[in-house]
Amino acid sequence: MSTGFIGLGAMGAPMARHLHARGLLTAVGNRTQAKADALAAGLGVRAARSADNFADCDVVALCVSLDADVLENVAALARVLRRGAVVVDHSTVSVQTATRAAALLGAEGIGFIDAPVSGGVEGARNGRLSVMAGGEAAVLEQVRPVLEAYAARISHMGGTGAGQATKAVNQVLVAGINEAVCEGLALGEKLGLDPQTLLPTLMAGAAGNWFLEKRGATLLESRFTPGFKNAHMLKDLRIASAIAASAGLQLPTLQQALADYGELVERRRGEEDTSSLIDLKRAGPKPVTGP
Ligand code: NAP
Repeated sequence: MSTGFIGLGAMGAPMARHLHARGLLTAVGNRTQAKADALAAGLGVRAARSADNFADCDVVALCVSLDADVLENVAALARVLRRGAVVVDHSTVSVQTATRAAALLGAEGIGFIDAPVSGGVEGARNGRLSVMAGGEAAVLEQVRPVLEAYAARISHMGGTGAGQATKAVNQVLVAGINEAVCEGLALGEKLGLDPQTLLPTLMAGAAGNWFLEKRGATLLESRFTPGFKNAHMLKDLRIASAIAASAGLQLPTLQQALADYGELVERRRGEEDTSSLIDLKRAGPKPVTGP
C-alpha cells in the first residue's frame, strides 16, 4: 500500500514516521515546504510540492489545522487521485466539513474516512493514538493497515461525521479535565503544598488522569511548549459547543473552557500548550468593573 501524508506538525510528523517504519510511506506534504523537504530527505521518501505528487497513492492521510485546510487539500486531491483511493482525515474539524469532504471525493469515486485522534503528541510519538472513525466499514477496512501504524485503538463510530462527533465528545471531557486540574493545582500552589509530593499523591488516587500525568510537572514550572495549542483547543471547543447546542444541551463547564481559551488566544497565547490555562486560574477572581 502506498500512502501519502499531508500536515507534518506536532501530530502529523510522528504519525508519518510510523508509516515509514512499516514501509507504507511514499510522499509527504506540508504548507511550509521546508518541513516536508526536511522530513522527506531524512526518511528517503518523496517531498510533495502539490497534490499531483500524491496521484499514485492508494491512501492519503491528512493532519492539518482547520476546516478550510482540510477542504482545500480534499478539493485538490479529488482532482488527482484515482478511483478507489481513500483520503483519511485525522484533523479535528466539524461534522459538516467531514460530510463536505466525503461528497467532494465521492463524486470522483474516492473514499473518505473522518478519523480524528486523541492521545496527544506522546500518543503520536509512541503510536498509541485512539482513532475515532466515521465512514463506510469496507473503506475503513481498506485503510486499517495505515491506521494500525499509529493507533492503540481504532473505533468505527458510524457513518461519515461520526468520528468527528466522537472527537467533540472527547474534547468536552478534555476541556473539563483541564479546568479541574488547573484549578486544583492553582489552589495547591496557593496553599504552599510541595509539588514534588502533591503530583504523585494526586496521580495515585481518584484524581489521576492523562493531563495531570503528562503536563502537571511542566505547568507548575510554567513551561508551556506544545503539545496541544490553545488556538486548536479553542477551535475544538467551538465545534463541540455548536454540536451541544444543536443537541439542545447546555454544558456550563464547556462554556467556561470556551471563555478561558478565548481569553488566552486574545492575549496572544494561542501558540502555547493548553496547560497555560493555569495562569488564568492563578490570577484569582477578576475585578468587577463598571457601575
Ligand atoms: P500543528 O503542530 O500546528 O501542525 C499542523 C500542520 O499542518 C503544520 O505543519 C501545518 O503547516 C500543516 N498545515 C496546515 N494547513 C495546511 C494546509 N492547508 N496544507 C498543508 N499543510 C497544512 O498542529 P497539530 O498539533 O499537529 O494538530 C493537527 C490537527 O490535529 C489539528 O486539527 C488538531 O486540533 C488535531 N489534534 C492535535 C492534537 C495535539 O495534541 N497536538 C491531538 C489530537 C488532535 P505549517 O508548517 O505551515 O504550519
